[in-house]
Amino acid sequence: LQPKTIWNSSKSNNGRRLGHCTEVPRNVNMENLQSGYLFPEIFKRESEHVRKYPDASLIRLGIGDTSEPIPDIITSAMAEHAFALSTVKGYKGYGEEQGNMALRKAIAEIFYKDMGLKGNEIFISDGAQCDISRLQMLLGSNMTVAVQDPSFPAYTDSSVIVGQAGKFQPETEKYKNIVYMNCTPENGFFPDLSTTSRTNIIFFCSPNNPTGHAASWQQLKQLVEFAKANGSIIIYDSAYAAYISNASPRSIYEIPGAREVAIEISSFSKFAGFTGVRLGWTVVPEELVYSNGYPVIKDFDRIVCTCFNGASNIAQAGGLACLSPDGYQALNSVVGYYKENAKIIVDTFESLGLKVYGGKNAPYAWVHFPGKSSWDTFAEILEKTHIVTIPGSGFGPGGEEYIRVSAFGQRECILEASRRLKNFYT
Ligand code: PLP
Repeated sequence: LQPKTIWNSSKSNNGRRLGHCTEVPRNVNMENLQSGYLFPEIFKRESEHVRKYPDASLIRLGIGDTSEPIPDIITSAMAEHAFALSTVKGYKGYGEEQGNMALRKAIAEIFYKDMGLKGNEIFISDGAQCDISRLQMLLGSNMTVAVQDPSFPAYTDSSVIVGQAGKFQPETEKYKNIVYMNCTPENGFFPDLSTTSRTNIIFFCSPNNPTGHAASWQQLKQLVEFAKANGSIIIYDSAYAAYISNASPRSIYEIPGAREVAIEISSFSKFAGFTGVRLGWTVVPEELVYSNGYPVIKDFDRIVCTCFNGASNIAQAGGLACLSPDGYQALNSVVGYYKENAKIIVDTFESLGLKVYGGKNAPYAWVHFPGKSSWDTFAEILEKTHIVTIPGSGFGPGGEEYIRVSAFGQRECILEASRRLKNFYT
């Protein structure tokens, strides 16, 4: 058999020469994806920098990974659960695919009190990112999609992977079929809905990653009304809700009527330091139905049973401990610690005369470097101060001229970063 085209056949792949090629064509949607997923790309640049400067002490304020230890009231609950698995009495195999009902009810009670949601409408996941893709599988390739610009890249990339996005257009750096809802300081980081085209699905993240903006009640009311008028479904990402300090809603379901138009995804990652433990949830209200009246919750249940099989029971035991009164209190102080970090970062950049957004209701500062490419600013800060940030354009063309700085580091690293930045820029 002679393959028709052999990609890269004469070159090496990670040092290994490519020989035999299968007859399997590459998924055209994967071919359509532009460059690597943002965060592994940052990690690659970081590793190159470490190779170049082996003695430099690198400060990582890029990828939003938590650094504070998990309070031991929570790890003890996980350890206890893990040890019990070594006993006949305590052993547990598969659980319910949708998650432990006690945890589902606790989430409904703590995060959605008085919002009319029940435990059976909460589906426990292994993280919000995984459920973004499961939701895309639920929706399929025929959906039209809108995203905030800038926004967390998983919404756009998963749309490309399932075939919703259309061709990438290098001149605009946008995918043809995705509606980009520009969110800038000029519009209060909230899209002008009067000029936004109708789509089936609207991804909306608040507090937003990367801008740190938490949408107000009035803004979310507009969004819900917009979705209702257009017959759209909102996929609302509240992964950073625990960081809200002002009166902004922590859930889309605080808005009347949202249960008929919105799915909410959320996570223990940033609220409980579970980025490695892996636990999240998705809310699919019973009132949310397709154009033919069929309940979305039934299809999501089907997807979860087919494609997931349930979150780790150890992680779920940890999740229940997070929601116990003592666990919840301990986590609030961890969130408070990161918020103080965010304040230090915001003050640092402001003292350099730069305009800084976010940092008050989110663990990210969004810093404007007017007239400068965000990759250039990223590279300059890395080269001159050994601090890793994220270039704003990685979150969409609307992120150009910005960098995102994460507050998830240890305090001494944040203070050291502040010193280095002040030294370099003044
Ligand atoms: N949603 C947003 C907005 C995020 O920023 C992240 C992670 O950074 C996720 C979801 C993914 O969360 P998880 O760790 O639960 O998969």
